[in-house]
Amino acid sequence: MGSRSSRGASRGSAETEKASGFEAMGLSHTMLTALAQAGYLEPTPIQAGLIPKAMEGVDVMGQAKTGTGKTAAFAIPILEGLEMQKRPPGPQAIVLVPTRELAVQVRDEFIKLAAGRKARIVAVYGGKPLRHQADQLRRGVDVVIGTPGRLLDHLGRRTLRLDSIGWAVLDEADRMLDIGFRPDIEKILRRLPASRQTMLFSATLPPPVVRLARRYMRDPLTLDYSPGDITVDTIDQYYFTVDPERKFDLLLRLLKREDPRQAIIFCRTRRGTEKLGQRLARRLSQVAAIHGDLLQRTRDRVMARFREGKIRYLVATDVVGRGIDVTRISHIINYDIPEFCDDYVHRVGRTGRMGAEGVAFTFVTPEEGNQLTRIEMRINRLLKRDEIPGFEAFTEPEAIREEPAPESKPVFGRRQRRYRRAL
Ligand code: ADP
Ligand code: MG
Repeated sequence: MGSRSSRGASRGSAETEKASGFEAMGLSHTMLTALAQAGYLEPTPIQAGLIPKAMEGVDVMGQAKTGTGKTAAFAIPILEGLEMQKRPPGPQAIVLVPTRELAVQVRDEFIKLAAGRKARIVAVYGGKPLRHQADQLRRGVDVVIGTPGRLLDHLGRRTLRLDSIGWAVLDEADRMLDIGFRPDIEKILRRLPASRQTMLFSATLPPPVVRLARRYMRDPLTLDYSPGDITVDTIDQYYFTVDPERKFDLLLRLLKREDPRQAIIFCRTRRGTEKLGQRLARRLSQVAAIHGDLLQRTRDRVMARFREGKIRYLVATDVVGRGIDVTRISHIINYDIPEFCDDYVHRVGRTGRMGAEGVAFTFVTPEEGNQLTRIEMRINRLLKRDEIPGFEAFTEPEAIREEPAPESKPVFGRRQRRYRRAL
């Protein structure tokens, strides 16, 4: 770790300080103990800004780079506010997340921070039998975390009630909208008590998210911790120009050169992910693929093994890769350039967690020059060109021949020059 790692939660130095930021927030002794056990010595900037506001009961909309501790930012105020003496019949807090993996991850973070209190925390998500989750819900739950579709299933079967909800959280709101959860989210939000507090989180705040927030939140306070540069700046970001049929060989060479501790290799489609996973597994060990066509059981097992470090190369689709937090990830490889710019931000955000250093490589075929430019405009930063001799693309990227960029930023001129040099 270099000097840049002093950003965010400073790990080593905080031990010598007296009152930590968390202590100054008026948190309970139980919570401070749980935080210490979790190794959270200092709040991250979004935690420092958001927790006091959330504890006042204000609706908040938090935008921050990935890996900056948004989960604890909403989990801490909720856990501190739960009524534990006279518990209402239904859950007191509901958290909506876009994917099954995130449901599990958010639940685990809640459980970690709930150390020392008897909060009942349940995750519900598709791919697991409804029955078992229904039993868990019936036995009593204080915080329910789930994907919108599955939460609606439980509502429909009346195994979940929402009349005692005091907090609603929309995590990764932009992603939930992207993958078509909007009608489901609105159905759930409409059924929540009006008196609830709502918190919305997103690494990016595109207009549809803001509209949703306006409609279902009360004068939300926006806390924006992603000024300008929305990707984590401890991540070095490179691209390669490569012909499509040479991508696989380039990947092998790159992995050999980089020798990653752990890497996620992103592909655009489920089929492509499966195929690349199989192909890679014939050449390297500790390879697995994860995508939406796999059984939930398999997905859970792959994620667990990845977290344990037993899988070194994880080939994944965007949906599954989103929000994954594994601190050992040193490399992100965009084998297929992401279709949407925001996906780039999220993919790359899987590394460089909590100030650790990471590196991201994006493979760009000659037809994809424009997409790369769009990404660079979105993150307001140029990717550096990398090269492995013998793997340069031989055809000219189309971006050069096409019309100028919508808003002609200087970045585009430099892009063109760099492409020319590459050819
Ligand atoms: P985000 O939702 O913003 O992408 P996460 O909530 O997944 O980020 O947190 C990223 C990582 O940082 C997790 O491993 C979490 O345990 C850790 N973390 C969160 N808050 C702190 C803190 N205050 N100090 C140290 N680590 C933290
Ligand atoms: Mg998150």
